[in-house]
Amino acid sequence: MKYISTRGDQAERGFSDILLEGLAPDGGLYLPKAYPQVDDATLTRWRGLAYADLAFEILSLYIDDIPADDLRAITCRVYTPEVFGTKEITPLTWLGEGLALEGLSNGPTLAFKDMAMQLLGALFEYELGRRGETLNILGATSGDTGSAAEYAMRGKQGVRVFMLSPHGRMSPFQQAQMFSLQDANIHNIAIEGVFDDCQDIVKAVSNDLVFKREHRIGTVNSINWARLLAQVVYYFAGYFQATKTNGEKVSFTVPSGNFGNVCAGHVARMMGLPVDKLVVATNENDVLDEFFRTGAYKPRGTADTHETSSPSMDISKASNFERFVFDLLGRDAARVMQAFTSAGFQLTADEHAAIARFGFSSGRSTHADRVATIRRCHAEHGVVIDPHTADGLKVALEQRDPAVPMLVLETALPAKFAATIVEALGTEPPRPAGLEGIEQLPKRVKVMAPDVGAVKAYIHAHV
Ligand SMILES: *Cc1c(COP(=O)(O)O)cnc(C)c1O
Repeated sequence: MKYISTRGDQAERGFSDILLEGLAPDGGLYLPKAYPQVDDATLTRWRGLAYADLAFEILSLYIDDIPADDLRAITCRVYTPEVFGTKEITPLTWLGEGLALEGLSNGPTLAFKDMAMQLLGALFEYELGRRGETLNILGATSGDTGSAAEYAMRGKQGVRVFMLSPHGRMSPFQQAQMFSLQDANIHNIAIEGVFDDCQDIVKAVSNDLVFKREHRIGTVNSINWARLLAQVVYYFAGYFQATKTNGEKVSFTVPSGNFGNVCAGHVARMMGLPVDKLVVATNENDVLDEFFRTGAYKPRGTADTHETSSPSMDISKASNFERFVFDLLGRDAARVMQAFTSAGFQLTADEHAAIARFGFSSGRSTHADRVATIRRCHAEHGVVIDPHTADGLKVALEQRDPAVPMLVLETALPAKFAATIVEALGTEPPRPAGLEGIEQLPKRVKVMAPDVGAVKAYIHAHV
């Protein structure tokens, strides 16, 4: 399988090449030249597979530069009940007839990002080892991504992580998760500032091409194709759990921020998985909902991005969105280039109508909706859900077709977002075994001023 850029760069790249890269040289995102098609016989064969074997089958359609035995060893090492809590890895919890949560957040950091990041850690270690290279991952986090990256890379050969976070602004649980790691290859840097200060420092360091090359700086952000590919697997796994035969259709509702999660659903549907609808759920930051409803894409800046109680969806410029638009516009790279290098764009009426052919629709949710949905789900089903999953469930209840099973992707466990759970239910959320009292563990973190030079000096001293 070869990969091309959404902006028209004609160089065709292999999986291993794009694994360690971010954007394509022309600023576009990588996508496979064509989506491999799965027929009925293949679906039937895959239906009975364990998650790790299903992951191997799907990944091997997209990866031809890693020997099959090595790839299978990697998926079998990553997707285990020990790491993800159950044999199913992404188990369904039914909320009555035809409506279920698909659990994606039983990995080490209790958010769905573990599903992809755990695989990425294993692939990085494998590829760097094969090349005899090392990589220093520099990132900024407001919570979920940083911890998922650290737990995926901890103790891995050839990889170090330098993770910037806004000092004192993550929840006590999130701080404890990251800062209690004692692995020598994990560096937590708490910046005296807000998330955007962290992000600006990462950009400034990455734009210093000499420093970047000399210190082998890389990233693990959500545009990475391998992360997206890992996520395709659980759409298949959810489908097989929810159906008995391949003639049945299933819909998915996906709490969305950077559009990475639901974009994986789009890929699964393009491969031929019988998906009826892909419903994009946003919070008050509803740029994507506006796009799907009206055909107008109007990304917003930081100043117009609201801080909400589903913070991992507080995004107004979704980094993976360009991948879907590339397919929607018939893979017309020149139009994509133009659309994403201007302030926004408007679809024609025909293009807007095509959205339905790709199965997409959308809805939005607010703080009051989240609280009400958490209460309702608890009262009716005895299930405590997190605020992001609540945004998804709220929109799913509005949009579901009673004839088609609807799976809501559960993107985090409530333990991560205790304050909103206490507001909704009056009690602390349940905490998975082994995580009681992590706030009391010794912390390993360097507090620094928002100063690019100081961060560079710190990296230089530790590589
Ligand atoms: C990252 C995240 C999201 C948003 O996922 P995208 O792939 O960015 O759309 C939703 N919920 C939680 C809990 C997350 O951590």
